[in-house]
Amino acid sequence: MISNPDPAKDQRAIVAIDLDYYYAQCEEVRNPAIKGKPVVICVFSGRTVESGAVSTANYVARNLGVKSGMPIALAKKILQKNSDSVLLPMDTEYYVEVSDRIMETVRTHGEKFEQASIDEAYLDVTALTKADFQRAVAIGREIKNEIFAKESLTCSVGIGPNKLMAKMAVDSSKPDGIMTILPDEVKYFLNPLPVGKLFGIGPKTEEKLKGLSITTVGELASANVIVLSEQFGNKLGFTLSRMANGVDTDPVVDREPEQMSRIVTLKHDAESFDFQEVLKPLVGDLSRRLTTSRNLSKAIGIILITTDLKIKSRTRTLDTPTNSEIDILKVATEIFESYFGQENFEDKSSHIRRVGIRVSSFVKSTDPKSGTLFDYL
Ligand SMILES: [Mg+2]
Repeated sequence: MISNPDPAKDQRAIVAIDLDYYYAQCEEVRNPAIKGKPVVICVFSGRTVESGAVSTANYVARNLGVKSGMPIALAKKILQKNSDSVLLPMDTEYYVEVSDRIMETVRTHGEKFEQASIDEAYLDVTALTKADFQRAVAIGREIKNEIFAKESLTCSVGIGPNKLMAKMAVDSSKPDGIMTILPDEVKYFLNPLPVGKLFGIGPKTEEKLKGLSITTVGELASANVIVLSEQFGNKLGFTLSRMANGVDTDPVVDREPEQMSRIVTLKHDAESFDFQEVLKPLVGDLSRRLTTSRNLSKAIGIILITTDLKIKSRTRTLDTPTNSEIDILKVATEIFESYFGQENFEDKSSHIRRVGIRVSSFVKSTDPKSGTLFDYL
């Protein structure tokens, strides 16, 4: 019933990237002194000092029993004997900024790129490697090394004939690993696994399958599709059967980013525009990212974060879209000057702590000099 893809024609090579214990690792990179200690990133609900849940824990904390989703109070109880434990609130803006830079790096390594979440992405390298898995692994390793060199962050890499198998491979290689599932290894890999390990199967489905005496992926793969459809409905029944057979035709969908931004913390809180120098690397980075993604920006914006953490922004639309460092810096400077000329800074809380630049409203560049690394290979 399951038609396997024709290997000669349909063989794909997909790379999955997953940044390790991402939020907690970002905090370790920002403050290396906490590395080796239990680090727990918390989503505080604000009701009481302790109310809220654990978002991400590093492996030191995980090995002590702290898990994502756990109440903060419970995590504290588990860590009470570890006086060196570090509990931190989420700094989403920082995690997004680091993620944006990493995703831009990943994007340049393949022909199709899909960001699945803040710390996960898929890359289709079929054409680039002619579906040669050895070459796909080399690309995966290159990406891993490049992310570490640029951001000091470790990630895990999975390579497979489709997104599902790449995802299964990356999950098995965590942390800081790289794993390949070759097309003819799919069954050996999947068959012995408990069904709950198959990506997308939750505890409810697992329980229902148990009722059908199906506990391993291999048993699910050879189960009668008609029986599965009766139990789960046609759509899910067929999907389960296909997944258990390692079949996934879901394409890597290259979605263009709608905007790019970079933010930086100023050395001193500002009440006047005296920080053009700190904007230069931000502008350089944005210009590079526009160029590699073949985009021109029609709107330049500035972001300002006050000492009491209010976020303000101003945007200007351009007559002629650009990717030029000089243009972006010029426009951003004008907007900053006009902001500081208009606002009142008597109250210290209105002083500016962090500033950023955002480019958006993209149009495609036709300049042959713009392009991704892929075009030159
Ligand atoms: Mg991750």
